[in-house]
Amino acid sequence: MNYFASVTINRCHLRALVDLSAQIAGRRFPFQNVIVSPLVVRNGILPIVSTHKHSCNVMFDSGGFHIQQGQFTLTEVALRIDDIYKNNPWAHRYVIPDVPIVTQDNSRAATAKIRANIRQYRSFPEITNIDRSKLVAVVHGRTTVEIARCAAAAAKSGVGMLGFGAFSTSGSKSNVNTLTGGSCILLAELSKCAHRLGLPFHVFGIGNPSAIPLLMHFGAASCDSAGWIRSAGFGNVFLPFIGAVNITGAASTRRTVGAREFSQLKRISAHDCVYCSDLATLKARWHYRALHNYEVALETISVVSKTGIEAALAKLDTLNPRLGKLSARFLDTTEPT
Ligand SMILES: [Zn+2]
Repeated sequence: MNYFASVTINRCHLRALVDLSAQIAGRRFPFQNVIVSPLVVRNGILPIVSTHKHSCNVMFDSGGFHIQQGQFTLTEVALRIDDIYKNNPWAHRYVIPDVPIVTQDNSRAATAKIRANIRQYRSFPEITNIDRSKLVAVVHGRTTVEIARCAAAAAKSGVGMLGFGAFSTSGSKSNVNTLTGGSCILLAELSKCAHRLGLPFHVFGIGNPSAIPLLMHFGAASCDSAGWIRSAGFGNVFLPFIGAVNITGAASTRRTVGAREFSQLKRISAHDCVYCSDLATLKARWHYRALHNYEVALETISVVSKTGIEAALAKLDTLNPRLGKLSARFLDTTEPT
Protein backbone atom coordinates (compact mmCIF):
# COMPACT_ATOMS: atom_id res chain seq x y z
CA MET A 1 0.00 0.00 0.00
CA ASN A 2 1.19 3.55 -0.78
CA TYR A 3 0.97 6.42 1.72
CA PHE A 4 0.41 9.81 0.05
CA ALA A 5 1.60 12.74 2.17
CA SER A 6 -0.56 15.82 1.79
CA VAL A 7 1.58 18.75 0.66
CA THR A 8 -1.20 21.34 0.54
CA ILE A 9 1.03 23.33 2.88
CA ASN A 10 3.05 26.56 2.92
CA ARG A 11 5.84 26.76 0.37
CA CYS A 12 8.42 27.68 3.03
CA HIS A 13 7.38 24.60 5.04
CA LEU A 14 7.82 22.28 2.05
CA ARG A 15 11.22 23.87 1.30
CA ALA A 16 12.30 23.40 4.92
CA LEU A 17 11.26 19.71 4.81
CA VAL A 18 13.08 19.12 1.51
CA ASP A 19 16.24 20.77 2.90
CA LEU A 20 16.10 18.77 6.12
CA SER A 21 15.63 15.50 4.24
CA ALA A 22 18.63 16.26 2.01
CA GLN A 23 20.76 17.27 4.97
CA ILE A 24 19.86 14.47 7.41
CA ALA A 25 18.80 11.54 5.23
CA GLY A 26 20.67 12.36 2.00
CA ARG A 27 17.40 12.28 0.04
CA ARG A 28 16.59 14.92 -2.59
CA PHE A 29 12.89 14.72 -1.80
CA PRO A 30 11.46 13.16 1.35
CA PHE A 31 8.27 11.74 -0.19
CA GLN A 32 7.53 8.80 -2.46
CA ASN A 33 3.88 9.77 -2.95
CA VAL A 34 2.18 13.13 -2.43
CA ILE A 35 -1.38 14.45 -2.70
CA VAL A 36 -2.06 18.12 -3.32
CA SER A 37 -5.21 20.25 -3.82
CA PRO A 38 -4.15 22.48 -6.74
CA LEU A 39 -7.28 24.62 -6.36
CA VAL A 40 -6.26 25.94 -2.97
CA VAL A 41 -2.52 25.32 -2.74
CA ARG A 42 -0.22 28.34 -2.34
CA ASN A 43 1.95 29.49 -5.25
CA GLY A 44 5.21 27.65 -5.56
CA ILE A 45 4.19 24.19 -4.33
CA LEU A 46 3.30 22.69 -7.74
CA PRO A 47 6.67 23.67 -9.33
CA ILE A 48 8.54 21.98 -6.46
CA VAL A 49 6.39 18.86 -6.71
CA SER A 50 6.63 18.66 -10.52
CA THR A 51 10.45 18.73 -10.27
CA HIS A 52 10.24 15.38 -8.46
CA LYS A 53 7.51 13.78 -10.59
CA HIS A 54 9.84 11.04 -11.84
CA SER A 55 10.64 9.78 -8.34
CA CYS A 56 7.36 10.64 -6.61
CA ASN A 57 3.76 9.76 -7.54
CA VAL A 58 1.53 12.80 -7.51
CA MET A 59 -2.23 12.78 -6.95
CA PHE A 60 -4.27 15.94 -7.53
CA ASP A 61 -7.18 16.25 -5.14
CA SER A 62 -10.22 18.09 -6.41
CA GLY A 63 -10.82 19.96 -3.17
CA GLY A 64 -13.74 17.96 -1.78
CA PHE A 65 -12.60 18.89 1.71
CA HIS A 66 -12.90 22.59 0.86
CA ILE A 67 -16.39 22.08 -0.59
CA GLN A 68 -17.23 20.36 2.69
CA GLN A 69 -15.93 23.42 4.54
CA GLY A 70 -18.20 25.66 2.45
CA GLN A 71 -15.37 27.45 0.61
CA PHE A 72 -16.55 26.37 -2.87
CA THR A 73 -19.60 24.75 -4.49
CA LEU A 74 -19.31 21.59 -6.60
CA THR A 75 -20.16 23.50 -9.80
CA GLU A 76 -17.44 26.10 -9.12
CA VAL A 77 -14.88 23.39 -8.51
CA ALA A 78 -15.77 21.41 -11.64
CA LEU A 79 -15.41 24.53 -13.80
CA ARG A 80 -12.11 25.64 -12.32
CA ILE A 81 -10.36 22.37 -11.66
CA ASP A 82 -10.44 21.11 -15.24
CA ASP A 83 -8.36 24.13 -16.37
CA ILE A 84 -5.83 23.44 -13.62
CA TYR A 85 -5.67 19.74 -14.54
CA LYS A 86 -5.16 20.54 -18.24
CA ASN A 87 -2.34 22.97 -17.40
CA ASN A 88 -0.63 20.32 -15.26
CA PRO A 89 -0.75 17.11 -17.30
CA TRP A 90 2.26 15.62 -15.46
CA ALA A 91 0.45 14.26 -12.37
CA HIS A 92 -0.23 10.53 -11.98
CA ARG A 93 -3.79 10.66 -10.60
CA TYR A 94 -6.58 13.27 -10.86
CA VAL A 95 -9.57 13.22 -8.52
CA ILE A 96 -13.00 13.94 -10.05
CA PRO A 97 -14.76 16.79 -8.17
CA ASP A 98 -17.01 15.46 -5.41
CA VAL A 99 -19.01 16.73 -2.51
CA PRO A 100 -18.63 14.80 0.75
CA ILE A 101 -21.56 13.77 2.96
CA VAL A 102 -21.17 14.91 6.56
CA THR A 103 -22.86 13.59 9.69
CA GLN A 104 -25.05 16.71 9.97
CA ASP A 105 -26.65 16.06 6.52
CA ASN A 106 -30.24 14.85 6.68
CA SER A 107 -31.39 12.10 4.37
CA ARG A 108 -32.60 14.51 1.67
CA ALA A 109 -29.32 16.46 1.64
CA ALA A 110 -27.27 13.25 1.51
CA THR A 111 -29.32 11.84 -1.38
CA ALA A 112 -28.90 15.09 -3.31
CA LYS A 113 -25.13 14.97 -2.77
CA ILE A 114 -24.95 11.36 -3.99
CA ARG A 115 -26.87 12.31 -7.15
CA ALA A 116 -24.57 15.29 -7.74
CA ASN A 117 -21.48 13.08 -7.34
CA ILE A 118 -22.83 10.47 -9.76
CA ARG A 119 -23.50 13.26 -12.30
CA GLN A 120 -19.83 14.30 -11.95
CA TYR A 121 -18.59 10.71 -12.56
CA ARG A 122 -20.44 10.88 -15.90
CA SER A 123 -19.81 14.47 -16.95
CA PHE A 124 -16.26 15.17 -15.80
CA PRO A 125 -14.53 12.47 -17.92
CA GLU A 126 -16.44 13.90 -20.92
CA ILE A 127 -15.21 17.48 -20.48
CA THR A 128 -11.60 16.84 -19.46
CA ASN A 129 -8.78 15.67 -21.70
CA ILE A 130 -7.12 13.78 -18.83
CA ASP A 131 -6.87 10.08 -19.63
CA ARG A 132 -9.74 8.23 -17.91
CA SER A 133 -7.34 5.65 -16.47
CA LYS A 134 -5.77 8.46 -14.40
CA LEU A 135 -9.09 9.63 -12.95
CA VAL A 136 -10.14 8.77 -9.40
CA ALA A 137 -13.86 8.76 -8.52
CA VAL A 138 -14.59 9.30 -4.83
CA VAL A 139 -17.38 7.05 -3.59
CA HIS A 140 -19.65 8.42 -0.87
CA GLY A 141 -22.62 6.90 0.91
CA ARG A 142 -24.19 6.33 4.30
CA THR A 143 -25.24 2.76 3.59
CA THR A 144 -23.70 -0.22 1.83
CA VAL A 145 -26.41 0.07 -0.85
CA GLU A 146 -25.40 3.67 -1.59
CA ILE A 147 -21.70 2.74 -1.66
CA ALA A 148 -22.38 -0.10 -4.13
CA ARG A 149 -24.53 2.18 -6.31
CA CYS A 150 -21.85 4.91 -6.43
CA ALA A 151 -19.04 2.42 -7.07
CA ALA A 152 -20.95 0.87 -9.99
CA ALA A 153 -21.73 4.31 -11.49
CA ALA A 154 -18.07 5.34 -11.16
CA ALA A 155 -16.79 2.16 -12.79
CA LYS A 156 -19.19 2.64 -15.70
CA SER A 157 -17.52 5.94 -16.56
CA GLY A 158 -14.19 4.17 -17.12
CA VAL A 159 -12.15 5.67 -14.27
CA GLY A 160 -8.89 3.99 -13.25
CA MET A 161 -9.41 4.09 -9.50
CA LEU A 162 -12.11 4.39 -6.84
CA GLY A 163 -11.71 6.46 -3.71
CA PHE A 164 -13.22 5.99 -0.25
CA GLY A 165 -14.51 9.26 1.13
CA ALA A 166 -17.07 8.02 3.60
CA PHE A 167 -15.28 8.31 6.91
CA SER A 168 -17.44 9.60 9.73
CA THR A 169 -16.60 13.22 10.33
CA SER A 170 -16.40 14.91 13.69
CA GLY A 171 -15.17 18.26 14.99
CA SER A 172 -17.03 21.57 14.92
CA LYS A 173 -16.50 21.98 11.15
CA SER A 174 -16.78 18.27 10.27
CA ASN A 175 -13.07 18.40 9.55
CA VAL A 176 -11.78 15.40 11.46
CA ASN A 177 -12.06 11.99 9.83
CA THR A 178 -12.59 9.16 12.26
CA LEU A 179 -12.35 5.42 11.75
CA THR A 180 -15.45 3.98 13.41
CA GLY A 181 -17.36 0.69 13.22
CA GLY A 182 -19.84 2.35 10.84
CA SER A 183 -17.20 3.67 8.47
CA CYS A 184 -15.46 0.28 8.48
CA ILE A 185 -18.68 -1.41 7.29
CA LEU A 186 -18.79 1.04 4.37
CA LEU A 187 -15.08 0.55 3.68
CA ALA A 188 -15.57 -3.23 3.65
CA GLU A 189 -18.37 -2.75 1.11
CA LEU A 190 -16.21 -0.54 -1.12
CA SER A 191 -13.42 -3.09 -0.87
CA LYS A 192 -15.83 -5.81 -2.08
CA CYS A 193 -17.16 -3.63 -4.92
CA ALA A 194 -13.67 -2.57 -6.06
CA HIS A 195 -12.55 -6.20 -6.09
CA ARG A 196 -15.59 -7.24 -8.13
CA LEU A 197 -15.17 -4.31 -10.56
CA GLY A 198 -11.42 -4.98 -10.92
CA LEU A 199 -10.42 -1.48 -9.75
CA PRO A 200 -7.89 -0.39 -7.12
CA PHE A 201 -9.09 1.95 -4.38
CA HIS A 202 -7.64 4.83 -2.39
CA VAL A 203 -8.71 5.84 1.14
CA PHE A 204 -8.88 9.62 1.59
CA GLY A 205 -7.79 11.55 4.66
CA ILE A 206 -6.72 9.12 7.37
CA GLY A 207 -5.65 10.90 10.56
CA ASN A 208 -3.25 8.51 12.15
CA PRO A 209 -1.13 5.66 10.73
CA SER A 210 -2.46 3.16 13.28
CA ALA A 211 -5.42 2.74 10.87
CA ILE A 212 -3.01 1.38 8.24
CA PRO A 213 -3.21 -2.35 9.18
CA LEU A 214 -6.99 -2.26 8.85
CA LEU A 215 -6.82 -0.49 5.46
CA MET A 216 -4.32 -3.09 4.27
CA HIS A 217 -6.65 -5.84 5.47
CA PHE A 218 -9.33 -4.34 3.24
CA GLY A 219 -6.92 -4.32 0.29
CA ALA A 220 -6.58 -0.54 -0.17
CA ALA A 221 -4.00 0.36 -2.83
CA SER A 222 -3.21 3.67 -1.16
CA CYS A 223 -4.26 6.21 1.44
CA ASP A 224 -3.40 9.81 2.17
CA SER A 225 -3.02 11.99 5.20
CA ALA A 226 -2.19 15.47 6.38
CA GLY A 227 -1.86 14.03 9.88
CA TRP A 228 1.94 13.67 9.69
CA ILE A 229 2.43 17.47 9.48
CA ARG A 230 -0.69 18.61 11.33
CA SER A 231 0.18 16.47 14.36
CA ALA A 232 3.78 17.69 14.26
CA GLY A 233 2.52 21.27 14.54
CA PHE A 234 0.75 20.38 17.80
CA GLY A 235 3.87 18.73 19.21
CA ASN A 236 2.59 15.20 18.57
CA VAL A 237 4.63 12.32 17.24
CA PHE A 238 3.42 9.00 15.83
CA LEU A 239 4.75 5.61 16.84
CA PRO A 240 4.04 2.45 14.84
CA PHE A 241 0.80 0.75 16.03
CA ILE A 242 0.60 3.01 19.10
CA GLY A 243 -0.73 6.20 17.54
CA ALA A 244 0.22 9.75 18.52
CA VAL A 245 1.86 10.92 21.71
CA ASN A 246 2.68 14.49 22.72
CA ILE A 247 6.27 15.40 23.55
CA THR A 248 6.17 19.20 23.82
CA GLY A 249 3.37 19.81 26.33
CA ALA A 250 1.64 22.01 23.74
CA ALA A 251 -1.40 19.79 23.11
CA SER A 252 -4.12 20.34 25.70
CA THR A 253 -6.04 17.24 24.58
CA ARG A 254 -3.19 14.75 24.77
CA ARG A 255 -1.02 13.56 27.62
CA THR A 256 2.63 14.59 27.33
CA VAL A 257 5.23 11.84 27.62
CA GLY A 258 8.66 12.48 29.13
CA ALA A 259 12.05 11.32 27.87
CA ARG A 260 11.99 7.99 29.70
CA GLU A 261 8.51 7.01 28.56
CA PHE A 262 9.21 8.11 24.99
CA SER A 263 12.30 5.94 24.70
CA GLN A 264 10.29 3.05 26.22
CA LEU A 265 7.54 3.53 23.61
CA LYS A 266 10.14 3.64 20.84
CA ARG A 267 11.56 0.36 22.12
CA ILE A 268 8.12 -1.30 22.39
CA SER A 269 7.20 -0.24 18.86
CA ALA A 270 10.72 -1.05 17.57
CA HIS A 271 11.03 2.34 15.92
CA ASP A 272 14.06 4.52 15.36
CA CYS A 273 14.86 6.96 12.55
CA VAL A 274 17.28 9.78 11.79
CA TYR A 275 14.69 12.38 12.81
CA CYS A 276 13.87 11.07 16.29
CA SER A 277 17.28 9.88 17.50
CA ASP A 278 17.68 13.06 19.57
CA LEU A 279 14.60 13.89 21.67
CA ALA A 280 15.71 17.49 22.39
CA THR A 281 15.79 18.27 18.64
CA LEU A 282 12.50 16.44 18.07
CA LYS A 283 10.88 18.54 20.82
CA ALA A 284 12.34 21.80 19.56
CA ARG A 285 11.73 21.45 15.80
CA TRP A 286 8.47 20.57 14.11
CA HIS A 287 10.24 19.69 10.81
CA TYR A 288 11.89 16.76 12.56
CA ARG A 289 8.54 15.68 14.05
CA ALA A 290 6.82 15.92 10.63
CA LEU A 291 9.40 13.80 8.79
CA HIS A 292 9.59 11.34 11.70
CA ASN A 293 5.77 11.01 11.48
CA TYR A 294 5.98 10.37 7.75
CA GLU A 295 8.67 7.71 8.34
CA VAL A 296 6.45 6.02 10.95
CA ALA A 297 3.62 5.74 8.40
CA LEU A 298 5.96 4.11 5.85
CA GLU A 299 7.41 1.83 8.52
CA THR A 300 3.92 0.70 9.58
CA ILE A 301 3.14 -0.32 5.99
CA SER A 302 6.47 -2.11 5.69
CA VAL A 303 5.94 -4.03 8.97
CA VAL A 304 2.42 -5.12 7.95
CA SER A 305 3.73 -6.25 4.54
CA LYS A 306 6.50 -8.30 6.16
CA THR A 307 4.67 -9.84 9.12
CA GLY A 308 1.27 -10.28 7.49
CA ILE A 309 -2.05 -8.76 8.47
CA GLU A 310 -2.88 -11.14 11.34
CA ALA A 311 0.40 -10.60 13.19
CA ALA A 312 0.11 -6.85 12.63
CA LEU A 313 -3.44 -6.76 13.96
CA ALA A 314 -2.37 -8.76 17.03
CA LYS A 315 0.30 -6.11 17.62
CA LEU A 316 -2.32 -3.40 17.18
CA ASP A 317 -4.51 -5.15 19.73
CA THR A 318 -1.75 -4.86 22.35
CA LEU A 319 -0.53 -1.37 21.52
CA ASN A 320 -3.77 0.38 20.49
CA PRO A 321 -6.70 -1.54 22.03
CA ARG A 322 -9.46 0.66 20.50
CA LEU A 323 -8.32 0.03 16.92
CA GLY A 324 -7.36 -3.53 17.80
CA LYS A 325 -10.93 -4.31 18.93
CA LEU A 326 -12.38 -2.63 15.85
CA SER A 327 -10.08 -4.67 13.61
CA ALA A 328 -10.93 -7.94 15.37
CA ARG A 329 -14.60 -7.34 14.63
CA PHE A 330 -13.86 -7.03 10.93
CA LEU A 331 -11.45 -9.91 10.78
CA ASP A 332 -14.25 -12.12 12.08
CA THR A 333 -16.76 -10.96 9.49
CA THR A 334 -14.84 -10.12 6.33
CA GLU A 335 -12.53 -12.01 4.06
CA PRO A 336 -9.20 -10.34 3.29
CA THR A 337 -8.98 -9.13 -0.31
ZN1 LIG B 1 11.58 8.40 14.14
